[in-house]
Amino acid sequence: MTRPDALSGAKQELLARRLRRGTAAAPRRTVPPRPAGEPPLSHAQERLWFLEQFAPGTTQLTIPIRLRLRGPLDVPALAAALDAVAAGHDALRMRFAATWDGRPRVELAEAGTLPLTVSDAPDEAAARARAEEFLAVPFDLAAGPPARALLVRLAGDDHVLVIAVHHIAADGWSADLLMREVFARYDGVAPAAPEVGYADFAAWQRGLPPSRRDLDFWRDRLAGLEPLDLPADRPRPPERTYAGAAHTFPLDAEVAAALARLGREHSATPYMTMLAAFAALLGRYAGTADVAVGSPVAGRQVPELDGVIGCFVNMLTMRVDLSGDPTFAELLERVRDVAVDAYAHQDLPFEQLVAELDLPRDVSRSPLFGVILAMQNYRGTAVEAPAGMSVADFPVDSWATRYDLELYVGDGSGGMFVYNTDLFDAATIERLAGHLRTLLERVADRPGRRLSEIDLLSPGERRLVVEDWNDTARRFPGEATLHGRIEAQAARTPDAVAVRFEGRSLTYAELSARADRVAHTLRDLGAGPGSVVAVCAERSLELLPGLLGVLRAGAAYLPVDPGYPAERVAFMLADAAPAVLLTQSTIRPSLPETAAVTLDLDDPDAWTGRPGPLPAVRPDDVAYVIYTSGSTGRPKGVANTHGGIANRLGWMQERFGLGPGDVVAQKTPLSFDVSVWELFWPLRCGASLVLATPGGHKDAAYLRKLIVTEGVTTAHFVPSMLAVFLGEEGAAGCGTLRRVICSGEELPADLALRCVTTLPGAELHNLYGPTEAAVDVSAWHCLPGTLASAARVPIGTPIANTALHVLDPAMAPVPVGVPGELFIGGAGLAQGYLNRPGLTADRFVPDPFGPPGSRLYRTGDLARRRPDGALEFLGRMDGQVKLRGLRIEPGEIEAALRALPGGQGRGRGRARGPPDRLPRPGRRRERAARRAARRAT
Ligand code: AMP
Ligand code: MG
Repeated sequence: MTRPDALSGAKQELLARRLRRGTAAAPRRTVPPRPAGEPPLSHAQERLWFLEQFAPGTTQLTIPIRLRLRGPLDVPALAAALDAVAAGHDALRMRFAATWDGRPRVELAEAGTLPLTVSDAPDEAAARARAEEFLAVPFDLAAGPPARALLVRLAGDDHVLVIAVHHIAADGWSADLLMREVFARYDGVAPAAPEVGYADFAAWQRGLPPSRRDLDFWRDRLAGLEPLDLPADRPRPPERTYAGAAHTFPLDAEVAAALARLGREHSATPYMTMLAAFAALLGRYAGTADVAVGSPVAGRQVPELDGVIGCFVNMLTMRVDLSGDPTFAELLERVRDVAVDAYAHQDLPFEQLVAELDLPRDVSRSPLFGVILAMQNYRGTAVEAPAGMSVADFPVDSWATRYDLELYVGDGSGGMFVYNTDLFDAATIERLAGHLRTLLERVADRPGRRLSEIDLLSPGERRLVVEDWNDTARRFPGEATLHGRIEAQAARTPDAVAVRFEGRSLTYAELSARADRVAHTLRDLGAGPGSVVAVCAERSLELLPGLLGVLRAGAAYLPVDPGYPAERVAFMLADAAPAVLLTQSTIRPSLPETAAVTLDLDDPDAWTGRPGPLPAVRPDDVAYVIYTSGSTGRPKGVANTHGGIANRLGWMQERFGLGPGDVVAQKTPLSFDVSVWELFWPLRCGASLVLATPGGHKDAAYLRKLIVTEGVTTAHFVPSMLAVFLGEEGAAGCGTLRRVICSGEELPADLALRCVTTLPGAELHNLYGPTEAAVDVSAWHCLPGTLASAARVPIGTPIANTALHVLDPAMAPVPVGVPGELFIGGAGLAQGYLNRPGLTADRFVPDPFGPPGSRLYRTGDLARRRPDGALEFLGRMDGQVKLRGLRIEPGEIEAALRALPGGQGRGRGRARGPPDRLPRPGRRRERAARRAARRAT
């Protein structure tokens, strides 16, 4: 009937005490009669009073009792019984006023009443509405009384009884007690008045000094505890809210029996068994090995309090250590010790503990824990009905909660979650409940399993995340190489303009002819499949025939940004050992010494190659090598294949359908893989390509002009540059834009919204992918209607012939909504890192889901699936950062720190922990990252 905030059951505690101390009974204490005068508030009452002041007018602290009474009912007798109960218990006669200095004081009334309102309802729905309405009325604690009742008459012998009690006057135990007593009195049996009143208890409790022993224990136990962040559907509101809902779930009788047996084998109570399982689940969901769960205990420290109505419940923090991948049986023993220790120190009131710990103030969540577990008969207690009547639970929909998530487990037949609806959707909690059931089944079946070996997914869920959402098989005929289609296009439209740059242009025929000359020359110099040709040139008309020529010769092009510092250029040339270096006469003097044959793209006499056949290029051949930041501070070259990038471009064309009327801006530096599609996609489908002037990609005003004057329809922006661009006066005038494509770093929802509002004629797409997987592997169309309410813009779903997996550290798929590392499989995977077999094997791992021999690329990105399958990017698992889309590994930052004058930061470099323990980049790190970025761009 209630979800009392109480009470994991005295039985549990007694059992635990016995486990700890043999059979010795708890020391008996007696609560003395209170001194004359106004009684104090108990610790719990005081906290509840303050909570009420913070959120006046809410009903989060109302304990609701909702019963269906069938049988003839004597209404005046019921009213009298309610009043008699109120008269017999101090707590129900208390009013709470504020003193002049804003502190609460108690006024204890002589006479008591528990007012009953009677009303009629035509049907159950109306009765339910009436009950909800009644429960939604807040209490005025200063006016009192703290409890009231409503009787809704459905028929002469069919009633709904609703009692609302403020938590300041009761707890779960008390709710049972209250109903028992009401029905007993209704039947004419007056129970013996309790020896002590709640006011006596409060006075006694306030007189006890906090136990040093308990305080020291809890201080030690809770040191360094971080709040548990469960993956939620919505961001946590800055101020805690109390809107809740409930979800009940059944549990197999067989499983329950097996769990009970398991508990007995390990001297653990059902509570402990459930706590072990629940903590294991929470750890999985939150990706942590340190899980704290709140646990209510009755708090009735002496037997003479057992019959008293009032708030006694105390909350204990059960901090469970999941580290070291224990078996479930081992975990159960850990949990047993945790619980036994906690019970042995349960007398310290939660309020006192919180005050003593001096926690940082956080109004967004409850202190110490946001999740609680209680052994509670969630379907209502088996209160005996008055003579001639039957009593049943009368369920309603609304639940208030002070926590993120509450779990109630009763007689073993099932359980109930109460959850904060500002954080979670019903479907999410339903899934969570399913995972708890699966976990319980698995551990009941084999408690020797390690936590990492417990698969949470049902076969259906597994099929969904592994197969259905990766069902991306497509065929793109004629897409085997990066440049093949350009040759075909040139044959089809030789006189069409292929590329424009600062008022000059090349037709497809001119481009093709020049590329051939480059290819033949390279072939004569010995470059071909398996070799690398470096290209160090500014954006220019010469650049394109150069790149295309390299591809036709069968070699891979290696872009070397002319803006890079000499040391980086020297490193790349030494590392990749290109056969040939293509550059420009203006750049050549500043290039470091190299063994590579060096040719100037702007030198018409350099292209002396004899016409003749060129080698066949196969899908497995490397098309381009792009260097990206390395974790050791040394960049590494990613070797991408023709097949991989051809698939990526085939997908892009299928998705966006670029046509001859389209104009694509090429503005991304060649050292970023985005430039690959900017350059080659339009040429493959007869669209035209406009090259931005060197450096123009950083200049929003220039870009706006370029878009307007060239009629650009398709442009890419890293989100940070998109923000600058949209801030540019006249950005809204870029009406020719049809597609804005974002990638490279997280796209904030508000920026996406700004983009679609400023440029209503342009679609916005969020693409995601690492250099190691042919530019992009997932995409999301940002539809304007969805952005205003979105917390995040998804990175979307896998592109053609691509599989994306969100995996836990044991490489097992995580459930929907749960964060894990993103792994990529499929057509786009690079061959690996140039000349780095060890690093390649480390990052490109065997694919447990694909055909034999297939691989997955481990991104180091944290992601999760939405219920619709779309992926959300949640950040990095290491310290890698992005600056204006440029990837910088922590190792490179460390290297930049070490390079500071005087070698400052060296200590830091050494002190670095494992990658997942990296400190958040501080100001120094940020500055070092910027320095590293400057070195790289
Ligand atoms: P890069 O190799 O330079 O393309 O960098 C790849 C990394 O950039 C990914 O592993 C992500 O960390 C980040 N990234 C790329 N695209 C996105 C995106 N759309 N949203 C969030 N992060 C992204
Ligand atoms: Mg990328």
